[in-house]
Amino acid sequence: MLRLEQVSAGYNRSIALDNTSIEIPEGKIVSVVGANGAGKSTIVNTVSRLVTVYSGKITFDGRDITASKPAAVVDMGIVQVPEGRQVFAPLTVEENLRLGFTRLASGPNPAQKYRERLDYVLDLFPRLRERITQRAGTMSGGEQQMVAVSRALMAEPKLLMLDEPSLGLAPMIVDQIFEILQKLRRDGLTILLVEQHADEALQLADYGYVMAVGRVRAEGPGNDLRDHPALRQSYLGREAVS
Ligand code: ATP
Repeated sequence: MLRLEQVSAGYNRSIALDNTSIEIPEGKIVSVVGANGAGKSTIVNTVSRLVTVYSGKITFDGRDITASKPAAVVDMGIVQVPEGRQVFAPLTVEENLRLGFTRLASGPNPAQKYRERLDYVLDLFPRLRERITQRAGTMSGGEQQMVAVSRALMAEPKLLMLDEPSLGLAPMIVDQIFEILQKLRRDGLTILLVEQHADEALQLADYGYVMAVGRVRAEGPGNDLRDHPALRQSYLGREAVS
């Protein structure tokens, strides 16, 4: 469904992603793991077309999106849950969710479609149903992550990209979020999960990539990568992988 072919990308002429090739098949969960600064967020932001691509090609559903604008990418169904959740603190849960619906708002039967999407996400996260009128900024970190994931799902994405959903959350909440990702895969969603918590992310994934210093160091079925030497090296820093 999504393919990065030998993509180099970065910020202000510096290279954060170096000749990277990644593939995400339809209906699968692909995890990208690696230490701080490995380039994981840059992958997500490159696909969302927020980062300058210097060379290589990105295709989605067979269409070349290398030169596409961020809004066009969202319209195609690629939706991101950003690092640090970034909910709209003064707005209620429902107002946050409504903002995620904009992609579908100009389609057929928007009112009915809105109710359907809202019911779908509130069934996934019953806690949000109870708190639908609460301001998002007053919620716990875990609840805010649920809002952020739900907001993305309101757009009915084809590809959902999550940037470190476990950041700052208790292990039990992380387990809950990962269980939801499994359910979403059963519902047919394609998922790109970018995580520092490598073990859980690879256990969940159909396929995984280990990154260090802007490059893919190893790839394979998620469970096979959990003991891969490249994984340990990635978390030991620059010297260990050069
Ligand atoms: P983290 O887990 O810390 O978010 P990461 O693996 O997601 O790490 P990236 O955020 O993709 O890593 O960063 C990769 C490299 O790109 C780093 O060297 C970082 O300093 C650089 N970088 C990231 N964002 C920017 C930016 N907006 N401007 C300049 N350099 C950036």
